[in-house]
Amino acid sequence: QVASELSKVQGVAKVLVAQHDMYKGFLAEELTPLIVETHKKFNYTHICAGASAFGKNLIPRVAGKLDVAPVSDIIEIKSPDTFVRTIYAGNIICTVQCDEAIKVFTVRGTSFEAAPASGGSASVEKLTPPAPVGLSEWIEQKLTKSDRPELTSAKVVVSGGRGLKSGENFKLLYELADQLNAAVGASRAAVDAGFVPNDMQVGQTGKIVAP
Ligand SMILES: Cc1cc2nc3c(=O)[nH]c(=O)nc-3n(C[C@H](O)[C@H](O)[C@H](O)COP(=O)(O)OP(=O)(O)OC[C@H]3O[C@@H](n4cnc5c(N)ncnc54)[C@H](O)[C@@H]3O)c2cc1C
Repeated sequence: QVASELSKVQGVAKVLVAQHDMYKGFLAEELTPLIVETHKKFNYTHICAGASAFGKNLIPRVAGKLDVAPVSDIIEIKSPDTFVRTIYAGNIICTVQCDEAIKVFTVRGTSFEAAPASGGSASVEKLTPPAPVGLSEWIEQKLTKSDRPELTSAKVVVSGGRGLKSGENFKLLYELADQLNAAVGASRAAVDAGFVPNDMQVGQTGKIVAP
């Protein structure tokens, strides 16, 4: 079903589907050989993933195996080899030219317009997965459940800092956020003070919310 939804996204030419129990949990150790083997077959010029926990885990490993330097956190594409990316926690924006034969990069999705999810007609093909590596095993994941939008993709974020003085006072922000259909974040100082859990932290060492 995911493959058929993806095939309708405009700009997508082909969707390759590989299914195996070992891909449960999306372990980079197992997905990297799949990507490298697929690359050998199709000879890609560009390999990318979102600048999410998933992409940040996977892309450096893929780049390492292909022996190329990856480019992380791009916010604009100037040309097939020239990208704009942020450094120093977003304080400097630099334009970089990548002279690797294969461009391997992560993309900050919030900097780009979403592609229309209908109107495309990509082909869907099955891939045979390479043999399992078995280096690591996915056991379980514990996710924070919330009815509010996810911090990294929310249109509006209400963020609280040390000024709130306690976790109890974050209640004020939850009420405001619910009126605005916003996510609630927190500064590192508020997280370090134990007001709220660290998955709410916004910023360089937390979640990047803009761009
Ligand atoms: C390497 C590094 C990485 C970092 N990464 C992050 C990061 O990812 N995210 C992050 O948030 N921070 C990060 N920090 C910390 C960051 O530099 C700041 O110290 C922190 O964000 C400050 O948080 P704050 O604004 O809540 O606290 P404060 O700086 O203490 O600000 C609180 C504000 O509330 C005001 N205030 C207090 N009481 C009241 C009141 N009763 N009514 C009204 N106003 C009041 C104060 O006057 C003050 O302006 C990092 C720091 C370092 C060194």
